[in-house]
Amino acid sequence: MIFNKTLDNLKTYTPGKPIELVVREYGLDTKDIIKLASNENPRGCSPRVIEVLKESMKKINLYPDDSMYELKDSLANKFKVEKENIIIGAGSDQIISLALQAKANTHSSVLMAGVTFAMYEIYSKQVGAKILKTKSSSHNLDQFLDMCHKNSDVSVLFLCLPNNPLGECLDIEDVYSFLKKIDSNILVVIDGAYQEYAKVKDKNKKITPKNLIEKFPNVLYLGTFSKVYGLAGMRCGYGVANKKIIKALNKIRSPFNVTTLSLKACVEALKDEEFVSKSVEENFLEMSRYEDFISQNGFDSITSYANFIIIKYDKNKKSKVIAHNLLKKGIIVRDLGAYNMNAIRVTIGTPKQNSKFFNR
Ligand SMILES: *Cc1c(COP(=O)(O)O)cnc(C)c1O
Repeated sequence: MIFNKTLDNLKTYTPGKPIELVVREYGLDTKDIIKLASNENPRGCSPRVIEVLKESMKKINLYPDDSMYELKDSLANKFKVEKENIIIGAGSDQIISLALQAKANTHSSVLMAGVTFAMYEIYSKQVGAKILKTKSSSHNLDQFLDMCHKNSDVSVLFLCLPNNPLGECLDIEDVYSFLKKIDSNILVVIDGAYQEYAKVKDKNKKITPKNLIEKFPNVLYLGTFSKVYGLAGMRCGYGVANKKIIKALNKIRSPFNVTTLSLKACVEALKDEEFVSKSVEENFLEMSRYEDFISQNGFDSITSYANFIIIKYDKNKKSKVIAHNLLKKGIIVRDLGAYNMNAIRVTIGTPKQNSKFFNR
């Protein structure tokens, strides 16, 4: 059977190995395995969410509320925008896909940093768009601007702030001056999956979605419940943008794309601000242990504003081998070989998990 040509060069996303798979492949016990590969919250989620889920399970015979009134209302209050400025997806991943379906096609290009979140490229290729990456692996706004000038077919560009997998983050002031120079017909997706971490570490990295979308009607800001909120398994994320963008994306969104349980869980998660602040605080305390480990061992890294850190190796060591050896000991990390980097990305775990990593 012949499939659409757009699928020819399309690789599927390689997710972090699930614990169950490592149990089967390496004959280890579930309790001896730690997953530091997907930037999940090692503390779990707010206990309040679990309580709400138990209650919500009684109603799963009914379709979810497709207007997503409650969660939109909570997010609208949090960000001081209107409900019409918000779209909710099965992970912010789904919103990335909707944005590309709405704006990119076989006649356009999508621009992103040299090393950034893999799904930007995958979803772009699904709609047949050309991929453009800056020479610089981390975000370099001069290069972004230059490439926009040289390629008049750029329809969407991605800024990942902080950037996954490198961890670096642009100052918001620089982002604003950049946006002023960008054609208003280019959809600028600002992915804030790790904003909750970045804004605590450095207030110059803090994005205020309301201000951003009021100044720039061509910006779509993304957030997720998968990282600091500890709800990756619920698959829920959101977009904040000008009403016209939200309206366009809603035309493509499937009805009931977010489950009842996910919606309830996220509404509750937003109420527990203490859980978020504790998680962020512990994250950076533990990250400093990684920074010490990296310098003590003579490895290299990049300052991270998120809940992970990269460890770069010189030629004598191969990141692929290191990741594999860790796996045999029950520690799952992310090898960045696929990004042409001799490095691994490690999610900051609990104090106990991190100790296990250091003593591996
Ligand atoms: C994790 C992540 C997301 C979103 O994940 P979902 O689980 O689909 O909400 C988006 N962008 C980046 C950069 C991420 O790391």
